[in-house]
Amino acid sequence: MTRSVLPDPAPAPQDATLLARLQALEAGMYRTPEVSRGEIRTLLAEAQRTKDLHAEAHAHLLLAGCALYTGQLPEVLSTLSTCLTLAVQVQDRPLEARVLNGLGLGYDRTGQYSRALEAYLQSLRITQEIGDRTGSFRALNNLASLYSDTGNLTQALAFHEQALQIAEALREPVMLASSMTHLLLIHDRLGHPDDVLALAEEHLNLIQEVGPPRWTSTAQECVASALLARGRAPEALSVALVNLDAARARQDHEGTCRLATAGARALLALNRPDEAEPLLHESLTLSREVGSRPVEIRALESLAALHELRGEHQQALTVARQHFVLERQLHAHEVDARSHLLTAEIRLELLNREAEIERLRNVELARANQQLQETQQVLLHRATHDPLTGVSNRAHFHQVTHDTLSSLSDGELAALIFIDLDGFKRVNDTLGHPAGDNLLQQVARRLQGAVRSSDLVGRMGGDEFTVLLRRVTVRQDVTLVAQKLADALAEPFTLGGQNVNLTASVGCAVAPDDGRDAEALQQHADMAMYRVKRSGGNRVLHFESGMGEPGEQELLERDLRLALDRGELLLHYQGRYALRGPALVGFEALIRWQHPQRGLIPPGVFIPVAEDTRVILQIGEWVLREACTQAVTWDFARRGLSMSVNVSPLQFELPHFVDTVCAALSASGLPAQHLILEITESLVMRDLERAQSHIHALKALGVQIAMDDFGTGYSSLSVLESLPFDQLKIDRSFTRHLSGERRGRVAALMTAMIHLAQTLDMTVTVEGVEEHTQKDLLTELGCDHVQGFLLARPVPSAQAGALIANASPDPS
Ligand code: C2E
Ligand code: CA
Ligand code: CA
Repeated sequence: MTRSVLPDPAPAPQDATLLARLQALEAGMYRTPEVSRGEIRTLLAEAQRTKDLHAEAHAHLLLAGCALYTGQLPEVLSTLSTCLTLAVQVQDRPLEARVLNGLGLGYDRTGQYSRALEAYLQSLRITQEIGDRTGSFRALNNLASLYSDTGNLTQALAFHEQALQIAEALREPVMLASSMTHLLLIHDRLGHPDDVLALAEEHLNLIQEVGPPRWTSTAQECVASALLARGRAPEALSVALVNLDAARARQDHEGTCRLATAGARALLALNRPDEAEPLLHESLTLSREVGSRPVEIRALESLAALHELRGEHQQALTVARQHFVLERQLHAHEVDARSHLLTAEIRLELLNREAEIERLRNVELARANQQLQETQQVLLHRATHDPLTGVSNRAHFHQVTHDTLSSLSDGELAALIFIDLDGFKRVNDTLGHPAGDNLLQQVARRLQGAVRSSDLVGRMGGDEFTVLLRRVTVRQDVTLVAQKLADALAEPFTLGGQNVNLTASVGCAVAPDDGRDAEALQQHADMAMYRVKRSGGNRVLHFESGMGEPGEQELLERDLRLALDRGELLLHYQGRYALRGPALVGFEALIRWQHPQRGLIPPGVFIPVAEDTRVILQIGEWVLREACTQAVTWDFARRGLSMSVNVSPLQFELPHFVDTVCAALSASGLPAQHLILEITESLVMRDLERAQSHIHALKALGVQIAMDDFGTGYSSLSVLESLPFDQLKIDRSFTRHLSGERRGRVAALMTAMIHLAQTLDMTVTVEGVEEHTQKDLLTELGCDHVQGFLLARPVPSAQAGALIANASPDPS
């Protein structure tokens, strides 16, 4: 069915305003577009001369309508773009919505489906905002058609049902009839004969009365095919034949071929092939003439069945081949269109996320502002408080600490607790600064909620907070309060509808033992905190004398430089599993540091240090060689397994990175196709050109490239489309929500990501699978591979070797 275009307004008298004259023209213009075009151009010139922007905009809209009617699509798009600018300029929202709808049609017909989707959705949003229900109806119908063209009938049905609600509310018979016809068609294609028959029973009369005849033909074809599906072939035949004559009589080719096919199918069911044959030939000729692929496909299918029925196998085969080719073309087109839509959908989803975060931030800021006014001490407050979180600022906190300590009597204690959030930078990097700010505000509120009103909370900057306990009786009380603060922060935070988990590194110092003045006390609490941080965070520690004297950071850096030579670095391996077929598909190598004093240090702690000091370059090279060698030892080539290795941005920036990979492959003897390099989007974005050239060179070698942590960045889609990734790893932050309250939304987004990746020919791995429900859902969503604690934790090589032995007996 065609898309909804523009409603016809009433004609206006000759001496009316320019705008009214244009509107009057519109009524007749679709009958004689060529004649109208000249008149519109005259009015346009007049509008430009008199600087009547409204009229100018409308004139462009009508010209676009003419161009659309005569199929000059580039002109439609350029004219509408001009029109859109004017509509925005004169703030004519209804016009803006119409133009967007028109642009959507233009994009739709030129195969730019993602743009079409965005234009229709924007048009829908505007019409909903201004209460233009006719406009919403139009946009919804076009959205539905867009989806039904891409084969996503369920989504199309949902849009049509929304449109139907509007038609019912407005009690507009033509709109109702149009909705019903669409619904019949979709239910027919979805194979819902009972729905078709029920709808037809109630609404067929209306369609016949108010709709154009071709709606009736369409509806009757659906009815005939539903009757047939329900085994009522004689009735199907009579419905088809009765209406077929009428369609032929009014030269309605599309209706004729639909009904002829329906009639032929009924005849075949009644075992009357000879009567069916001429109908099918008629249908084939006409459907090719009007370019209706779905009808042509149906007719070919029936023709093949007809030859089959007569035992003419050779002919049946020829026709079946034509049918197959056509169907495959249609399918290819649908897949292509669907990938466009998915891209747009995901982009919109990511934008929504940002908008949500922005909204939350605005709400928070508004609230904070109001509180400021209420105190009527705006200036004083500003001078002493942190503008973002409302807690004391550094200077004020310092002053109060100073005053408290100097007024301490003998035997009285006071304490300073220093809190630094673990992993805050990651929140900022992945969710964006507005989310980071929001988180800091929530942290400040929790801290304030966890202490007494006589205590003071301060923010030193960044993600560093301090708490001053002004009255303390015993040292142990400080530990209790510090632990309570850490616990308060361990509860999940909500950011833009997402749960975020945080821990904190907490250091305490108690006056007067750990320092008599504010500087000393703060410095010592800071040292204790720093000690916690370097050992992996998430702990409370009291200051002890001698702590932190040799710079902790320097020690770690020095140790890390030596770690390689001392053989303290090792790899753990985590299995990656297919959801279908032979389960184990490969391993990801994850680095660990076996520190002689500190024990096993996770990469989250030392990789940042290694990057700061560029030691990561040597480490990365070692990981690559070690992992390749291990893969050869485990006989990956013969078992068909692959080894994934994480690559740091610094490594990737080196001009000779590809040579390093080559060297690791040839030294170990691992065939390139068994190596997967995992890179992140931020890495690609740092230097897109270099990334491109490296990726192409690596792929030429046969190495596979995976995009890691997908979904945490912002521009992932453009990167995905522009670079030839083999694999996509969806970040585990999504997986967590697959079993939470946002399950539905996250599952929808996950589906879109999975489909998008598969359309772009990538294998999808979902990370962080910890529960059976998550795995089951992912299987349902069509995900390829999963990785996570549920299936296997990262383990030392000996244990990983055992996993391989169990998973796949030696093929030799
Ligand atoms: P990644 O590449 O995203 O690696 C996956 C991380 O998720 C690993 O953490 C793994 O232990 C963890 N993980 C796997 N399944 C689950 C699960 O079901 N639940 C949860 N909560 N976590 C799971 P790990 O080993 O601590 O590594 C952290 C990050 O350090 C890695 O993230 C990667 O970015 C980096 N990294 C690890 N090894 C290397 C390396 O050799 N070179 C470089 N440049 N970075 C590395
Ligand atoms: Ca990884
Ligand atoms: Ca990852």
